[in-house]
Amino acid sequence: MNGNSASKSPASGWLAEELNAWERAGLRRARRTVMPRENGECEIDGRRLINFASNDYLGLAGDERLRQAAQQVLDACGTGAAASALICGRSPWHERLEEKLASFEGTEAALLFPTGYAANVGAIAALVGRGDAVFSDALNHASLIDGCRLSRAEVCVFPHRDVDRLAEQLKQQRGARRRLIVTDGIFSMDGDPAPLIELAELAERFDAMLLVDEAHATGVLGESGRGTCAHYGVESSHLVRVGTLSKGLGTLGGFVAGSSELIEYLWNRARTQVFSTALPPALCAAALCALEIAQNEPQRRRHVCHLSVQLRRALVNLDVPVPIDGDVPIIPIILGGAERAVRISASLARDGLLVPAIRPPTVPQGTSRLRISLSAAHSPDVVDVLARRISDAVHMADGAD
Ligand SMILES: *Cc1c(COP(=O)(O)O)cnc(C)c1O
Repeated sequence: MNGNSASKSPASGWLAEELNAWERAGLRRARRTVMPRENGECEIDGRRLINFASNDYLGLAGDERLRQAAQQVLDACGTGAAASALICGRSPWHERLEEKLASFEGTEAALLFPTGYAANVGAIAALVGRGDAVFSDALNHASLIDGCRLSRAEVCVFPHRDVDRLAEQLKQQRGARRRLIVTDGIFSMDGDPAPLIELAELAERFDAMLLVDEAHATGVLGESGRGTCAHYGVESSHLVRVGTLSKGLGTLGGFVAGSSELIEYLWNRARTQVFSTALPPALCAAALCALEIAQNEPQRRRHVCHLSVQLRRALVNLDVPVPIDGDVPIIPIILGGAERAVRISASLARDGLLVPAIRPPTVPQGTSRLRISLSAAHSPDVVDVLARRISDAVHMADGAD
């Protein structure tokens, strides 16, 4: 051991090597501190930026009504639930929120989880196990992937949105004890929808469950904000709906909605809620308030969807390649190499626009991108500025390449 080894971490050799390799490849992430501000803005190192990196689609994260709802319960109950829901952490606000979520989703019952991530991992690992098969879209969110791995079921990954390949896999797995198809409703890095109508048909045909992760669609899509399934009119007894309170609803937490039997089963078996502390009651009160607003103020989702259409059109007119179809408030600009994406993101930040560069391993090699998330807190003017600055930054970088 050399003299200064005490000041280094135990394995600083390989840790430093890994970190340096990521740095060279443009894959090392900085740990920034971001202060949220009003109107979809934030502050970083004392500078104001317009935030196109958050998932606060309905602009509810800073809403005064949510804050007041949380404050009242905070005063009455304090900050933490102090136990898992199963042991003694389920307060009247948890109960009310679960009832409200069930009625919002049009299901018999709903169950809260500490996060959306925990809801996916817990639900999948409880629904399938050894001797079962789980079918997963290649671009599914990490929480679905981790749930599949943890379940110990046979995992069949099908190419993105490829229902023909999925049908073949389902046929091959006819002998499995149970079958579960898992998919994002809206894919988080591309903003495109799952082929839900076809997936629901396959689920019926092959007697499989279909778990749809509505993380980016809860409150945002569908006539009353119920998400992608409602948007495509998909209804099925095979459906397991997972959603998050952390994005469009501006708070924190995940949930599963479905039949009373399904919820009773997950209440007893889903380890991520059995062995993890329940949400703070004050957050449940805020989420209850957010659900009311999502239902009663449809203009919020209409506004953010209009902004998405506006931005897609503006970018295409400025020769920036983005998917023109759709009104989902996630818009990817695929740039290829990680360094290029990082460089363009940094130049936008200098212009006061926070647009994240998304790199491997979050997305496949060679598909690094800017990912724009819009919010009802943004204005059409701000979106116009964004389109022009992105076009300048992308074309300037092309000239320099
Ligand atoms: C963000 C996200 C989650 C996780 O939700 P949290 O509530 O943030 O844990 C799950 N699935 C998808 C598709 C997501 O984008």
